[in-house]
Amino acid sequence: MKTKSHISYFDNQMHIENVSVESIAKDIPTPFYCYSYSAIKAAYLEYEAAFSELDTMICYAVKANSNQAILKTLSDLGAGADVVSEGEIRRALSAGIPANKIVFSGVAKTEAEITLALDNDIFQFNVESEPELLLISQIAATKNKFPAISIRINPNVCAKTHEKITTGKSENKFGIPIAKAREVYRYAASLPNIVVQGVDVHIGSQLIDLVPFEEAFNKVAEFVTILKNDGHKISIIDIGGGLGIDYSEDEIEPDKNAYATIVKHCLSHLDCKIIIEPGRSIVGNAGILVSSVVYVKKGEERQFLILDAGMNDLIRPSMYDAYHQIKPVNNSVTEVSHYDIVGPVCETGDTFSKNRELPTAKAGDLIGILSCGAYGTVMSSTYNTRLNAPEIMVNDKKFAVIKPRLSYEEVIAQDIIPDWLLK
Ligand SMILES: *Cc1c(COP(=O)(O)O)cnc(C)c1O
Repeated sequence: MKTKSHISYFDNQMHIENVSVESIAKDIPTPFYCYSYSAIKAAYLEYEAAFSELDTMICYAVKANSNQAILKTLSDLGAGADVVSEGEIRRALSAGIPANKIVFSGVAKTEAEITLALDNDIFQFNVESEPELLLISQIAATKNKFPAISIRINPNVCAKTHEKITTGKSENKFGIPIAKAREVYRYAASLPNIVVQGVDVHIGSQLIDLVPFEEAFNKVAEFVTILKNDGHKISIIDIGGGLGIDYSEDEIEPDKNAYATIVKHCLSHLDCKIIIEPGRSIVGNAGILVSSVVYVKKGEERQFLILDAGMNDLIRPSMYDAYHQIKPVNNSVTEVSHYDIVGPVCETGDTFSKNRELPTAKAGDLIGILSCGAYGTVMSSTYNTRLNAPEIMVNDKKFAVIKPRLSYEEVIAQDIIPDWLLK
C-alpha cells in the first residue's frame, strides 16, 4: 500500500519512522497528532538544496504548524520564520529563531504587533496597505528606528487552488494591485522612518500547478525593474509560500527543484536575495491524525464509520472539501467496505470522507488520517467541549509528547462566573 514518506507498514502495522502507531496509542488516548521529525527536516533540506545556487532565506510559515518543537527543529537547521501575528512572533523568538530572520506578513497588523516587531528589530515587514505603511513609520519615529519593508503586490493571477486559499486575484483582500503599487512605493519612500528594501508576493496555498507561480514571478520581475528605474533600492524579493503537497493517491507533489528552477529563471537576473515562505510543503506530509473507531453504524443506504476525531480537531475536510488519505493502523484485514467517515461533533459538516473504501473496520480499530501536519492542530478548537488532541513527535525509535491534552478541569477552570451571578 502506498504511504507517505516516513510512514510505512512493517508486519502490517503502521509506523511513523521506527515507532509503531499502535504502541503510541497504548500510551496516549486517541485522537492525537503525530509528526515525523525526520520528514520535517528532510523537507526543509530539500528546499535548501533546491535553492542552493540562489542567495535565499527560507522563512518557514509558522501558521502551518506553530508547535515549539517544530519551530526548534527548523530553527536548528537555520530556518527563519514568516509570521502573521504577535503570537507567532513570540512563538518564533521563543523557539530560538533570530529576529533578523523573521518577516512579518498579514493584512491587519495592529499597533501593539508593530511595536513588538520594531522592539525586536525583525528583518522585514511585508506591508499590505498605505495606512499600514503610515502607522509603521509613525511608531518607528517614536523609537528612532528605520524598519525595512517590502510591499505585497497582488499580481492578479489565478492560483488554480481552492477559492478559500487563493490570495493573488484582484478581488482578494491581499496586497496592492501592480497598477497602483508604483505609487505606493513612491509614498513609502517619502515616509521618514521607512526603508524600502523589497517586493513581496504570495498568490495562494496548495498550488499543484507551477504555471501560476511562473506567471506571478514574471510580473514581479517586470515590476522590480520598474521600481529600480524609479530609483528604489530593491535588494529582496519575497516570493511567499504556497507549494502544494500530494494529499490524494493520484496527485503528484510538485517538485521543489522544478519550483526553484522557475524562481531562478524568472528572478535571478535581478540580483536580489530571495525569501521563500513555505509552510504546508514542510510539515504537511510529516504528520498524521490518529483516531479510533467509536462505532460502525449501519444506516439505510450507507455505513458510517464514527471516529473519536472530529472537525474540531481537523477542519480541512469541512472547510475546504479537502481530501485526506485515511488508512487503517493495522493493515491485516483484506476484506473491504465502503464508509462515510464522520466525527462526533453535532454538525453534518463533521465528515472526513463520503463513501470511502477501507478495510472492514470494527469499534476500537485505530485509523490514521494522513497529511495532517499543516493546518491541522493550528486550526483546531474545543467545540463541543472536546479536549484538544495532543501532539507527538517521533524521531527514529523514540517519541515525545510535544503538546499535552489539557484536562477537563483545566478547560472548565478557564471560565469565570461573575461575582453578581454567585449568590
Ligand atoms: C499562508 C502563507 C504562507 C504559507 O503558505 P503555504 O501554502 O503553507 O506554503 C506564506 N506566506 C504568506 C504570506 C502566507 O499567508
